[in-house]
Amino acid sequence: MRRCIKCKTPTGIFIPHHKLSLCKEHYVEWYQQRVETTIRKFRMFTRDDRILVAVSGGKDSLALWHALVSLGYEADGFIIDLGFGQFSEDSIHVSQKLASSLGRPLHVMDLNKEFYSINEIKKKDRRPICSICGTVKRYFINLYAKKLGYQVVATGHNLDDEVAVLLVNTLSWNVEYLRRQYPVLKEGNGFVRKIKPLCKTTEMENRTYVEVNEIEFVEYRCPYSKGATSIEYKKFIEDLENTSPGTKLRFYSEFLRKVYPLLQKGVEDQGVKPCKVCGEPTSGEVCAVCLIKQKMSG
Ligand code: SF4
Ligand code: ZN
Ligand code: ZN
Repeated sequence: MRRCIKCKTPTGIFIPHHKLSLCKEHYVEWYQQRVETTIRKFRMFTRDDRILVAVSGGKDSLALWHALVSLGYEADGFIIDLGFGQFSEDSIHVSQKLASSLGRPLHVMDLNKEFYSINEIKKKDRRPICSICGTVKRYFINLYAKKLGYQVVATGHNLDDEVAVLLVNTLSWNVEYLRRQYPVLKEGNGFVRKIKPLCKTTEMENRTYVEVNEIEFVEYRCPYSKGATSIEYKKFIEDLENTSPGTKLRFYSEFLRKVYPLLQKGVEDQGVKPCKVCGEPTSGEVCAVCLIKQKMSG
């Protein structure tokens, strides 16, 4: 039986790439410290900022919200009811449960009431459902953060997500995307600041955190996630990680340290301007959500 490196209590928690054995109590302390270090390293926000955590009901975003509040930050939750039946109901239910136990508000936006349901849009839009869903979520999260007076939006993207995206973008040398792959996207041009405080913690570490803290979360995936290519990439990366623990963290951290700064040289303004219809930021004349609205009204 392994023992906690801090208090020597026998424990089953072991983090291979950090070669750490920790008991439950010291795991929570280590995890929160790691999140705090990431926030400071990338100057994500200060204690004066109001943070809106985009939650989905999954382990990552709920772990993030719990950790931020435990660290003393003013962090509230935001969830979009996507209208995906049981999945959406369960997601909202567990998020509300955490909101009550943290004593922080959870803002719920009903997409069907305020816009169109994703399923309705899909009938008139040929793009993959995740692409429509992502566009709509990004738009409304930014809009609501501004409306509700939050300076920062935090998302639960974890190290595995970041590494999978990095690998996909590297394999196709998608320089435009690589240039923007950073855990902080600055505010400006109608966008609030977007941050990813879990970019250095793995899916497994987040899972352990919610389990140790007995936070209920939705264990199953969104019914539309089947066939997502990122799942295949994640499996491949996990195999590499099992053979050589630390590969994921090294790949991502070294990208941020060595490659990301090179990609910023000579970058011009992306030409973001207000959408002619709704005034929200867009790189075209009319934003993606207003284009969906036009499609829906025929
Ligand atoms: Fe939306 Fe589900 Fe796709 Fe996620 S997996 S982007 S929730 S449709
Ligand atoms: Zn301990
Ligand atoms: Zn618009």
